[in-house]
Amino acid sequence: MELNLLTFIYLIASVTFIVGLKMLSHPASARNGNRVAAVGMTLAILGTIFLYEEDGTRLGNYGWIFGGILIGTVVGTLAAKRVKMTAMPEMVSLFNGMGGACAALISLVEFDHLAHLDPVMAGVLLMANAAGALKGFLLIIVIGLVIGSVSFAGSIIAWGKLNGSIKDFSFKGQHLFNILLLGIIVALASYLIIFLPANAIFIFYTIFFLSLLYGIFFVFPIGGADMPVVISLLNSFTGVAAACGGFLYENKVMLTGGILVGAAGTLLTILMCKAMNRSLTNVLIGSFGGGSKVGTAAGTAVGTHKEISLSDTAVLMSYAAKVYIVPGYGLAVAQAQHACHELEKLLESKGVDVKYAIHPVAGRMPGHMNVLLAEADVPYEKLLEMEQANEEFSTTDVVLILGANDVVNPAAKSDTSSPIYGMPILDVELAKHVIVNKRSMKPGYAGIENELFFRPKTSMLFGDAKKVLQDLVAEIKNL
Ligand code: NDP
Repeated sequence: MELNLLTFIYLIASVTFIVGLKMLSHPASARNGNRVAAVGMTLAILGTIFLYEEDGTRLGNYGWIFGGILIGTVVGTLAAKRVKMTAMPEMVSLFNGMGGACAALISLVEFDHLAHLDPVMAGVLLMANAAGALKGFLLIIVIGLVIGSVSFAGSIIAWGKLNGSIKDFSFKGQHLFNILLLGIIVALASYLIIFLPANAIFIFYTIFFLSLLYGIFFVFPIGGADMPVVISLLNSFTGVAAACGGFLYENKVMLTGGILVGAAGTLLTILMCKAMNRSLTNVLIGSFGGGSKVGTAAGTAVGTHKEISLSDTAVLMSYAAKVYIVPGYGLAVAQAQHACHELEKLLESKGVDVKYAIHPVAGRMPGHMNVLLAEADVPYEKLLEMEQANEEFSTTDVVLILGANDVVNPAAKSDTSSPIYGMPILDVELAKHVIVNKRSMKPGYAGIENELFFRPKTSMLFGDAKKVLQDLVAEIKNL
């Protein structure tokens, strides 16, 4: 009876995951989507703790279980509440790493159970032709171990690289070394599963160690703008590793959750590669933005730039018919989203048509600009995706770039030696006037000079985005 109730709870939880995921695909419903899936997850966890039975025995160990849940809840809630918007990708990476670690731990625990199986019982199992089942079980354990460990170690390196504590690192022949490492892991795993050798424990822990090493060396050389792609890929790894846990425990909701995370992560990886016009292989072995940055080096002047005053900007924007705002990472750093929305409303009240042009990799995580502007209640209809915006620029009077750099860099179209060559960009130059707000002439994330700043149509408006926007609003009000 209770088992049926548990199955029913798992079914409800699986449905909430699917509905939640669907709702996450639109900014307007994303928050509720998160809540729906969280309710489902809570149900699944409580159902497992209180209703799951094996040989008529419940889980027990409530002190340990709820102690762990309490610590996890406090740490997770505080971390999520305190994290700055700009540090969000790091946190996603860290949390993803924890998921990978959990999947690897499940494999370690279950292998330990297998290894300490009563020898008589193990012999009976093998003789009773259950060897196939045993090997199948071991296969899932090893897959979970390898993928979970790679995901854990890789995510921790990605976390360190994003917060600047770990630098890009690569050496000659690293990709070959990685392939070799992966080959050894696969060979050892096959040997372990097929022959069930006497030194199985040693081999198992060697696989564990090599997988951690592979995770580290897999992410080390990947740099610059490719980090979000790698994080998304590692996220899908964690999903697959969790699904292995679902197989081991015959737990359908764990299986469904893992598969959904795996599939969603894979789709996001593909979409991001498309947004940067790069193949996944290129991302993984191309060392984008890492170590050797080619293209126009940062600090190499490619001409002279001209500045524009606040009052001239105010006049230009107030008397324009159509204005596009291009938000970038700098807008998030300055926390200028509210000031930006105020400027937009003020201009609209003067009859100016104001829209936002959103590049898919603007900021430091997928959807960064959407989340940032949603925080300031900017209506979603005002946010245009890159392709739509690019069709509008030729009829736009003023483009105001706020703390964006790489996503408007024309080198992506013309300079074959540039690390961002091939990445689709916002064609802001098609507009009549381009005003760029940033604090200096320093480069953006990819570390390369931006020729746009030196083009005839472009004027620089230096200063912190929030301060500049607040002053601009005051200036327009005084016109
Ligand atoms: P960039 O990093 O290219 O440029 C941001 C600019 O903002 C800098 O040049 C900086 O110039 C300026 N800035 C910083 N602080 C302020 C401030 N307080 N006020 C005003 N300006 C400021 O950002 P983009 O959004 O154009 O491009 C994103 C880059 O990050 C791309 O290369 C992308 O591939 C990469 N990336 C994207 C991820 C994603 O998932 N979206 C994740 C990781 C990387 P200055 O110092 O002179 O002020």
